Amino acid sequence: MSIDHTLTFHDGHTIPQLGLGVWQTPADTTAQVVETALAAGYRHIDTAAIYGNEAGVGQGLKAAGLPRDQVFVTTKVWNVDQGFDATLRAFDLSLQKLQLDRLDLYLIHWPSPARDLYVETWRALVRLRDEGRVRSIGVSNFEPAHLDRLIQETGVVPVLNQVELHPQFQQRALSDYLAGQRIAVQAWSPLGQGKLLSSPAIEALAKKHGRTPAQVIIRWHLQRGHIVIPKSVTPSRIVENADVFGFELDAADLHAIAALDRDDGRIGPHPAKADF
Ligand code: NAD
Repeated sequence: MSIDHTLTFHDGHTIPQLGLGVWQTPADTTAQVVETALAAGYRHIDTAAIYGNEAGVGQGLKAAGLPRDQVFVTTKVWNVDQGFDATLRAFDLSLQKLQLDRLDLYLIHWPSPARDLYVETWRALVRLRDEGRVRSIGVSNFEPAHLDRLIQETGVVPVLNQVELHPQFQQRALSDYLAGQRIAVQAWSPLGQGKLLSSPAIEALAKKHGRTPAQVIIRWHLQRGHIVIPKSVTPSRIVENADVFGFELDAADLHAIAALDRDDGRIGPHPAKADF
């Protein structure tokens, strides 16, 4: 396995298993951060309209000058733009900012149940996919009940669900449900926003393997089959976070990390309640 290792979605398209997340990456440094990541071998960038840095991502992609089919780009429709027509408009704006004529993956950022528009929003994503403007379509922060409804009402199964997932919040029940639907699991805040790097159990594994805590956690995600998008703006950490293909966690290591899971381990908002 190396940094260009891909997983295959149920729609037949592939995604590099490791990518760079750019939430909270300032707009004016995003281009440089993206260029640094692409130079380090990353081939997958995760942004969103609400991050305010799609234009920076577009500039970084352009500066790197890689062939379009060698880079995988994801963005997400923000909650206030849910609904069929509003989503089509939001998609156009995102593509324009990214300076792309086709996207690899478009996600509904949150179900936002109080708005009750996610089925209509999904129909817009299906339209965009059918028109060839986005290759694959998926969701983020969806619970099984939201997914059941999407699938029941449209017959179209998302390729992926991007959810909070890290050693302290392992989402085992949700992962089992997603496996049953052949929906890939993408882990957001994979390092627990950096808060898990000083965990004694993780530090011990880092010492055992001669690696850093971040590398141990990213490696855990890869071995669990997650698509993983750690964020950093620091060039040395961007490189470090991708240098995770030269070692392997053994069964005892995986067991030690499994024990870090907590019922109250969630750091971000609960999807059923998040209606910002
Ligand atoms: P993360 O778990 O990736 O942690 C990032 C933080 O960890 C950094 O800001 C830095 O402080 C620290 N860090 C990173 N690499 C390090 C290293 N090698 N050594 C020491 N410290 C290091 O957190 P995140 O940014 O919340 O999540 C990653 C990505 O997931 C985001 O950028 C975004 O693309 C996505 N995301 C999506 C949603 C969603 O609702 N869909 C929500 C949150 C994040």
